Amino acid sequence: MAPQASDRTSPVVTRLAPSPTGLLHLGHARSFVLAWLHARSQGGRVVLRVEDLDRERCKAHLVEACVRDIAWLGLDWDGEPRVQSRSLEPYERACRELLAHGRAYACTCTRAEIAALSAPHADDGEQRYPGTCRGRFTNPQDAHAQTGRESGLRLAVEPGSVAVHDELHGACAFDVSSEVGDFLIRRRDGAIAYQLAVVVDDALDGVTDVVRGDDLLPSAARQALLQRALGLPTPRYWHLPLVTDEQGARLSKRRGDIGLSQLREQGVDPRTVLAWVARSAGLERGPRPTPADLLSGFDLRALPRSPARLSPADLAGLIS
Ligand code: GLU
Ligand code: ZN
Repeated sequence: MAPQASDRTSPVVTRLAPSPTGLLHLGHARSFVLAWLHARSQGGRVVLRVEDLDRERCKAHLVEACVRDIAWLGLDWDGEPRVQSRSLEPYERACRELLAHGRAYACTCTRAEIAALSAPHADDGEQRYPGTCRGRFTNPQDAHAQTGRESGLRLAVEPGSVAVHDELHGACAFDVSSEVGDFLIRRRDGAIAYQLAVVVDDALDGVTDVVRGDDLLPSAARQALLQRALGLPTPRYWHLPLVTDEQGARLSKRRGDIGLSQLREQGVDPRTVLAWVARSAGLERGPRPTPADLLSGFDLRALPRSPARLSPADLAGLIS
C-alpha cells in the first residue's frame, strides 16, 4: 500500500514517549511540553508511551519515575500509559507479516562479526550491516537449523534515498541503504527494536503528529520504510532542535545535574521549568505559567529553528 500522509482534517493525536533508561532531563521536558501544547492547543489527544523494550538498558523503577516527572510538569494524557513491554503481540505480528512478505529476513550475525566486516558509520558509531544473511535462510527456524544460532530480523532495504517531510526542517532525504543498511527490527535476544515498536505503536494509537528531538530525524526515514512495508500511514513529523548547554553540547541523561526528579526533590516549582520552555519557544507568559497558560495562540511552526540554549542563568533561575 502506498504511504499516506495522515488525514489533515483528523484531530491531532500526539505522544510523549520516554525511554526509562535514565532520568528525564530538561531536554525531555521541553519536547514533552511542546508536544503536549501542540496537541492540546488544537483540542487534540496526548498518548503516554513508555518505551521499555530494551531490557538491558531499561530499569523498572525508572518507568515510574518517568511518569511521575511528566505529571509533575503538569502535563496530562488520555487513557492509560502504554508500557511497551506489557504487550508484545502487535510487534510480533508485524515481524511475522514482514517475514511472510519477504520484506524482512533472519540474520544470525553477532555484533562482533558485523563490526569486523564494516566501518562504523561516521555520525553515531552505528555499524552499517553489509547484508551478509540476505537470501541465506528461508526463515528463523531454517537459520537455527543451519547454524545452531538464534537469529535477529532485519528489514531488507532497497538502495536509494528515502524522503522524509518534516514540518520544521522541510524536505529531507536519507540514504538508509548506504548509511545503516538492512537494519534490525528484532534483535537476536528477541528484543523488538525501537524502529519497529515505534511504527507499530504510532499506528495503534492513531498518532497523527510526532513531536520529538531532532536527533531522531534520521530514524524517521527508517520508520517511513517500515510504515510503507506494513501499509501504515506516515504521521506528520516535527523534529525539534535539541537543547544544548552554553558550549553547544547536547544535554544527555548522564548529566543528572539537571534531571527533573532532582529538581522536584529540591522543591523546584515545575512552573519555572515551563517558564524556561516557554521562553525558549519564543513565548513570554510570566515567571510561573501553568501548561494551560501557554495554550492560547500556541503554534509549533513559530518555534525558533536554532538549538535551545540552557544557560547557567537559566539553571540558576530554575533552582533558586
Ligand atoms: N523513546 C525515545 C527517546 O526517549 C523517543 C522515541 C520517539 O519519540 O520516537 O529518545
Ligand atoms: Zn547476518
